[in-house]
Amino acid sequence: EAKSNSHVVTQDEIQHLLKPRTKFSHKGTYGHALLFCGGYGKIGAAVLAARACLRSGVGLLTVQTPAVGYDALQTAVPEAMLIPDSNRKHLSKLPESVEKFNAIGIGPGIGTERVTKTLLGQLLATTDAPLVIDADAINLIASSDKLKAHLPKGRVIFTPHPKEFERLVCQSKNEYERLEELREFCSVYECYLVLKGSHTAIATPQGDIYFNTTGNAGMASGGTGDVLTGILTALVAQGYTLKEACLLGVYLHGLAGDLAKEEVGEISMIASDVIQHLPQAFQHLR
Ligand code: AMP
Ligand code: MG
Repeated sequence: EAKSNSHVVTQDEIQHLLKPRTKFSHKGTYGHALLFCGGYGKIGAAVLAARACLRSGVGLLTVQTPAVGYDALQTAVPEAMLIPDSNRKHLSKLPESVEKFNAIGIGPGIGTERVTKTLLGQLLATTDAPLVIDADAINLIASSDKLKAHLPKGRVIFTPHPKEFERLVCQSKNEYERLEELREFCSVYECYLVLKGSHTAIATPQGDIYFNTTGNAGMASGGTGDVLTGILTALVAQGYTLKEACLLGVYLHGLAGDLAKEEVGEISMIASDVIQHLPQAFQHLR
């Protein structure tokens, strides 16, 4: 029966998941994340995802972005290491080695060019790292049975908004049907899926669905999804299980939005405000 495996994510349930920093740790302790993001006219998506990733506790971050974004990103996010793609406008080339990365996030601002699709195919086929797949990376997979067939099992988190979900999973007549299709998809592909919205739903390969309780309508503006991609990639890189990362990350993202709301209100809120309140959100859970 559908209802029995639906849950609500509250602070009590996820608070204990957050791991404290230990005294003798070093940056290697907290993982190395790789983000593939940005494209011509959308370098801001890379900046947002990268900043959010760094504010979520990752030890090291490398970002691969098209050559056109190199200077902007280097300036906006000095803490990140960069791999400039040889293509000026679009991501096109997998780096020599992706083995050293503990988590890889891909999608924000990348566009759906053919060269980028090729890169995504190579990534799915070669890496063993857990993947956070968002935005145009979802759109590329949605439009390609070949990419779908190459999806690795057990180590992917998808983060679609409702339109991307429609493309990737299905068009449903009603909410009940949508949740059933969601369960089915996660079971077939053995993946996690974060269906974003005012009540974001997190689905597991086991058929559980968790509804988030944080967040507000101030977050309904460009770039807030890119922030979530950065957060989730950081948490996975630190060794949180995919399920823990989804529950914690989605909750924290909404909580940062709620804390931002107290200061700037819903109307003026922008994605950068959400990033700015991530430190407070993490502190809040301790
Ligand atoms: P994206 O569409 O990819 O930029 O993602 C938007 C982000 O903002 C998701 O994490 C949504 O859950 C969140 N969001 C958008 N609208 C609302 C809303 N009305 N209430 C709460 N969260 C929202
Ligand atoms: Mg998005």
